[in-house]
Amino acid sequence: MIIILKPDVSKDSLEFQQLLRYLGQFKGVRTQVAEYQGMTRKVIEIHLIGDTQKIPLEVVQNLPGVEKAIRVSSKYRQIGRHGELEPIGFDYKGLHFDQNSFHVFAGLCAVDTKENVETIFKHLKENDIRTTRMGAYKPRTSPYDFQGHGKNCLPWLFELAGKYDIAVIAMEVLAPHHIDEIYEALEKTGHPTGVMLQIGTRNAQNFELLRAVGHQQEFPILYKRGMGLTIEESLNACEYVASEGNHNIIFCLRGVRTHLGDPHRNLVDFGHVPVIKRLTKLPVCVDPSHPIGSRVQSPEGIKDIYHVAAQGVIAGANMVLVEFHPKPEEALCDGPQALTMEELPCFLEHMQYAREAYLKMKDLAARCAMQQLAPKL
Ligand code: PEP
Ligand code: MN
Repeated sequence: MIIILKPDVSKDSLEFQQLLRYLGQFKGVRTQVAEYQGMTRKVIEIHLIGDTQKIPLEVVQNLPGVEKAIRVSSKYRQIGRHGELEPIGFDYKGLHFDQNSFHVFAGLCAVDTKENVETIFKHLKENDIRTTRMGAYKPRTSPYDFQGHGKNCLPWLFELAGKYDIAVIAMEVLAPHHIDEIYEALEKTGHPTGVMLQIGTRNAQNFELLRAVGHQQEFPILYKRGMGLTIEESLNACEYVASEGNHNIIFCLRGVRTHLGDPHRNLVDFGHVPVIKRLTKLPVCVDPSHPIGSRVQSPEGIKDIYHVAAQGVIAGANMVLVEFHPKPEEALCDGPQALTMEELPCFLEHMQYAREAYLKMKDLAARCAMQQLAPKL
């Protein structure tokens, strides 16, 4: 069961204390409090875990301070939508993330030189983009390939981000101690920027890592779907993060592994954007770089990466995570799929057209629904 509190009821209020006391009398039931930032208000929920059948729904619904109580049969207790009308999301470093927001995170697959990082940040600033991707810890198929600069690059990377007004860097972590290394480097440099911790597709079911990123509240999480996992398995992995207390999660689609996707690197799964939005409260990201894997283009001159990114955005994606490099031929990881800095304005304009088309489709759907509801004369 989930109890949603009225907007004016805080955790210090008498109603809240009374409610906890009432719920405390049911043996075998544990309570967990979750707080979310909605568009217009903060939402506090009490989650009841265990044998909740004996708790009378009608009684709970009428207790002081309760807006709504729902029995959840759904597996996605924490991240599930449960019929909420309000888009729930979170604020981080002055930016808002929810199922209506839209951000482009463009940057390096792997941090290599200061010069390349600075070139990217300069271009992002010129294009009013304050969100980027920068891999310091790289999960590589071969142990002999470049593994990323790790913690050594973090201080100068964060300082450069501050210089160019970058608010959030998406950065993959491979082990729990990487979270501490990131936090220490931010402390040392005076928190010039923010970090969104990325769980890569290869760690999509690394439950210890999921618990570790869920256990801290400092950084939001960008969870990438497992390349061979079902939506259900991947959403349960997000539930691991949320059940540890961190609800600031974005779900990222990045293609799934099957040879049916050839000649692309992975098969594009962006048709699942509306599925994630329907099942959960999570904002949805699409990564067009990893499913395509190269800069090939169609006869009309549009690169496949642009095509699939636009497909994700027109399906309602809230974020695009995309790889760029000033000199792709010199990149130490994923050079073949990196877009060049000269095309950044063009890529952003493509994304803007796709977003506008999505917003028009959304308006049209609302108008059509009204027409269908209107009484026939
Ligand atoms: C990445 O985004 O840097 C990455 C390695 O992606 P994925 O985990 O989706 O393969
Ligand atoms: Mn990559």
